[in-house]
Amino acid sequence: RRPRQTSSGGGLVAYADSQPDQPQGFKKKKVVVLGTGWAGTTFLRNLDSKLYDVQVISPRNYFAFTPLLPSVTCGTVEPRSVVEPIRRILEKKGGDFKFWEAECFKIDPANKKIHCRSNMGTNLDGNGEFLVDYDYLVVAVGARSNTFNTPGVTENCHFLKEVEDAQKIRRSVMDCFEKASLPYLNEEERKKNLHFVVVGGGPTGVEFAAELHDFVTEDLSKLYPSIQHLVKISLIEAADHILTMFDKRITNFAEDKFGRDGIDVKTGYKVVKVSKDAITMQNPATGDITVPYGMAVWSTGIGTRPFVVDFMKQIGQANRRVLATDEWLRVRECDDVYAVGDCATINQRRVMEDISEIFRVADKDKSGTLTVKEIQDILEDIYVRYPQVKLYMKSKQLNGIADLIRTGKGDTEKESVELSIEEFKKALSLVDSQVKNLPATAQVAAQQGQYLATCFNKMQTAEENPEGPIRIRGEGRHRFNPFRYRHLGQFAPLGGEQTAAQLPGDWVSIGHSSQWLWYSVYATKQISWRTRALVISDWGRRFIFGRDSSG
Ligand code: FAD
Ligand code: MG
Ligand code: MG
Ligand code: MG
Ligand code: MG
Repeated sequence: RRPRQTSSGGGLVAYADSQPDQPQGFKKKKVVVLGTGWAGTTFLRNLDSKLYDVQVISPRNYFAFTPLLPSVTCGTVEPRSVVEPIRRILEKKGGDFKFWEAECFKIDPANKKIHCRSNMGTNLDGNGEFLVDYDYLVVAVGARSNTFNTPGVTENCHFLKEVEDAQKIRRSVMDCFEKASLPYLNEEERKKNLHFVVVGGGPTGVEFAAELHDFVTEDLSKLYPSIQHLVKISLIEAADHILTMFDKRITNFAEDKFGRDGIDVKTGYKVVKVSKDAITMQNPATGDITVPYGMAVWSTGIGTRPFVVDFMKQIGQANRRVLATDEWLRVRECDDVYAVGDCATINQRRVMEDISEIFRVADKDKSGTLTVKEIQDILEDIYVRYPQVKLYMKSKQLNGIADLIRTGKGDTEKESVELSIEEFKKALSLVDSQVKNLPATAQVAAQQGQYLATCFNKMQTAEENPEGPIRIRGEGRHRFNPFRYRHLGQFAPLGGEQTAAQLPGDWVSIGHSSQWLWYSVYATKQISWRTRALVISDWGRRFIFGRDSSG
């Protein structure tokens, strides 16, 4: 079935979609999904495709398993093994999906349209642009690498975000070794070419440095015996430590291991300029230092895509850094637009904004005061709506009244205490300090995609039974619990078949056993049996034959 093309003003072609299969009078709502990464793909895989007319738009026609990208940079895993065509994923699901390989460059929420551009040539009007309209829009476009406007980074550094980036890095590593082997170079030039710099001590930078170190010591040292002693890997981090999002034990272990491995970890250094041959960094104690390098990988954090910034301006979020949604993943102040994954952040509602309303709901007997029991009775609902309260109640730094609320149940004397609104406010005055932003990880993105699909699958039922956990003004029409993140743990591969794992409940494990846990988790998490087979066979091939060094 081909979309009917109708010409419209502005040189754009609108794709007006007819729905010939639908019964008379019933028209499926149009869901448009931007992005085929972790959030978008998980949403699509969990969406009941019978309920909606779904259009997917992404400049890449595949899903990429990003946690294995660092392994692609050194040929431990092949690029093909970490990607799955989106059309195959959609086809397996069945249902009514369309995919356009194009990029969205403008969202027009007033007219419920998005502007897209294909880079595969032009249409009759000569610009390759088209419009798509939506009833619901799911923005899952991820983030871009952030250079923090450091001069020379875009021109001279590699990023590690996409499969192409990983492939380029691999070629560049090999080029550095071949260049350093040429007969006409002096020792200093060879050294320069073999200086690999990684900027950013987060999980990606650390894993890449570890992977590169393994590649050099296990494979390349045999093939380039005369220059292998000249190789140097530097890891530069502006903060005082690497892997700051992990437990202190993991940070220490990683820093020690890298030290033993001969990776030069430079913490407290901020890169201020990158030129073709040298990198300049700053440290309060040493001042500026400039070092020559052969290849640099920039991995310092993420930023918002320009068309999302433009969209934020349109909807009154101009002063924010990241697109904000509410806890149901609805974009604030913008009907029928949802945002998931790295492109957005949840603006957790503060208890203090709703404190009078919460008091009113809790005060069942309308006495104007709350007994401890009255509060206890709605505490579970409060936890769902305001997860920060649960975190606070579990923490040890409770104030007196909060402590009374926590311990009061079943104690007749304490239960009879009545709290005024002022005392209630005081009890909860510190809870909002427990609000935390979720990390930009595949785990969060996938859980959000799945959650949103569940909401979409039940949307109709929900509209018929509008009842939220706690009905705060204006939000009652949603009967779903807000999105709740479940942290399943995090890995930091450190090279030499050693991995650090931090699992829920501050359970930390470091070493070879966690490496095997890592292999098994990443094998199970593969999106299809095909990629699973490929990844496992890549690992096996690497164990037996080592990594390939052509390129
Ligand atoms: P993405 O997965 O980045 O997907 C964005 C999608 O939007 C892409 O398909 C892109 O092509 C598309 N898109 C971009 N621009 C447009 C546009 N204008 N219009 C339409 N579509 C567009 N997380 C973990 O939890 N564990 C890990 O081990 C881990 N390792 C990582 C290693 C690396 C090297 C990297 C880069 C990331 C890693 N992450 C990891 C983080 C994780 O990959 C991200 O948090 C996750 O990909 C976010 O999902 P997303 O769907 O928001 O964005
Ligand atoms: Mg996505
Ligand atoms: Mg992805
Ligand atoms: Mg996010
Ligand atoms: Mg009362």
